[in-house]
Amino acid sequence: MSYSVAIDGPSGAGKSTIASALAKELGILHLDTGAMYRAVGLKMLRLGIDFSDEDIISQILEKTDIDIKFEDGKQRVYLDGENIDSLIRLHEVSKAAASISGLKCVREKLAQAQRKLALKYDMVVDGRDIGTYVLPNADFKFFLTADEQVRARRRYEELKEKGQNIDYNIVLEDIKKRDKMDMTRAIAPLKKAQDAIVIDSSNMTPAQVVQTMISYIKERL
Ligand code: C5P
Repeated sequence: MSYSVAIDGPSGAGKSTIASALAKELGILHLDTGAMYRAVGLKMLRLGIDFSDEDIISQILEKTDIDIKFEDGKQRVYLDGENIDSLIRLHEVSKAAASISGLKCVREKLAQAQRKLALKYDMVVDGRDIGTYVLPNADFKFFLTADEQVRARRRYEELKEKGQNIDYNIVLEDIKKRDKMDMTRAIAPLKKAQDAIVIDSSNMTPAQVVQTMISYIKERL
């Protein structure tokens, strides 16, 4: 039997960094589900599809292959056979991912793929709906959050480091917009699972967050 740790929370809360560090500590894999939504977003962006046209997106998805591979323990995303890791963090792709993530056909396809992976491997899985919808029976559930301004600042620094010069206020507005879209969508909206532990990382270092999670996991094991 494989075991899973679900980490959900809003954009820029540090889920990916924390999930990856936690997985390393536990000696298991990390599945970043946002990368899968980004892959779908990238495909539709390239094809110039209207992000609200569910009929067309559903047809395209049937012929789309999104493959997650773990190479040296690190997740790699392949879109129709092409490695797209260097493209999915672009700001345009973030926006596309946020738009298509509200569609039922997208969520169903990706959730199914995520469940399949979690059945096969021990994993830390991060996203928005992992503890509530994808893996409601996850062994451990965390809801990682942080102050809006702190999250925007972190995203801004991350983008800057990658050479993307974007105004801080645009990043903040985008974060607010994406949170609203994620929290208000009809299918699997972002919300804390009833049995999730809330961690506010506004004044914590990543190492402190990971240690908090590890202590909690050890206590229950
Ligand atoms: O986490 P990340 O920022 O990479 O996610 C990109 C987008 O994918 C988010 O804005 C969110 O709308 C969507 N997403 C989702 N459910 C998940 C993971 C991501 O809706 N489990």
